[in-house]
Amino acid sequence: EAKSRGRNTFAFYDINMSDIIRSRNEMEQDLRRALENKEFYLLYQPKVLSKDGEIVGMEALIRWNHPERGNIPPSDFIPLAEKSGLIVPIGEWVLRTAASQNKAWQDMGLKPLGVAVNLSAVQFRDDYLVGMVADILDEVGLDPQYLELEITESTAMDDASKTADILDHLTQLGVKISLDDFGTGYSSLAYLKRFPLDRIKIDMSFVRDIISDGNDAAIVNAVINLGRALDMMVTAEGVETQAQLAHLSANGCDEVQGFYFSRPVSAEQFPALLLRGKI
Ligand code: C2E
Ligand code: MG
Ligand code: MG
Ligand code: MG
Repeated sequence: EAKSRGRNTFAFYDINMSDIIRSRNEMEQDLRRALENKEFYLLYQPKVLSKDGEIVGMEALIRWNHPERGNIPPSDFIPLAEKSGLIVPIGEWVLRTAASQNKAWQDMGLKPLGVAVNLSAVQFRDDYLVGMVADILDEVGLDPQYLELEITESTAMDDASKTADILDHLTQLGVKISLDDFGTGYSSLAYLKRFPLDRIKIDMSFVRDIISDGNDAAIVNAVINLGRALDMMVTAEGVETQAQLAHLSANGCDEVQGFYFSRPVSAEQFPALLLRGKI
């Protein structure tokens, strides 16, 4: 009896596994076609000064509008794109689109502001990445100072000496580097000093309970001070309330991003935010 139950159990898992594998394969096929079918688009979320809400930059965030499944969030498809290697052409599309959109806004006469683009660890190969970034800036005609590349701690610490090399080359191009989701991964303070970082982004998990949780507040304040001491900009992510903003501002956090100011908006909507100036 135990044996037959064991067999049934095996069969049960077997069917589910093949379903999972089938749907993953389908999703990968769909992902493969999504670029040429123009199913991706970018949203832009403003980055603002904590003291007065002035918009000082933006982050480009990818969206996938699947023809049958509708909108699929990046957390659901980026991992698959990384596993399949498709993140390389997708990431290139993101960079080209964000850079040319930024250049177009500047050409329209809008105040020039930097755009931040998220990079996957898979894109982090020296000759490929540095060459691609240089080519796109050149092709689009964007001044490198307006491009910021966001990497995470796990990308950075994976092979620290290689990272230092790549970041040095990117910095020589004139682009800015920012460390995203700070505090959620493993960072060596020695490398924080050694890497040419322009900005630290405090992960939203520390911001969420900053008012009620003294430990979170202590961590956030320590990161703000660390950033200042190392001469980096500090941006807090996921600011949703006036109280969070007040705390961050009072404790010297220069810049914030979050739903309190604006959700990520389409390229069509963004200029109206910019023309308003402050939000
Ligand atoms: P991230 O780079 O840390 O981006 C911030 C995420 O927080 C975005 O989610 C944004 O919509 C969300 N967010 C902003 N303000 C708030 C807030 O006040 N409250 C809450 N609850 N959330 C807020 P999104 O767009 O779903 O992106 C999730 C992650 O997917 C990003 O995290 C990034 O790691 C990755 N991602 C997005 N676009 C790209 C891309 O073009 N390339 C790569 N490689 N990764 C991307
Ligand atoms: Mg980011
Ligand atoms: Mg983040
Ligand atoms: Mg993230």
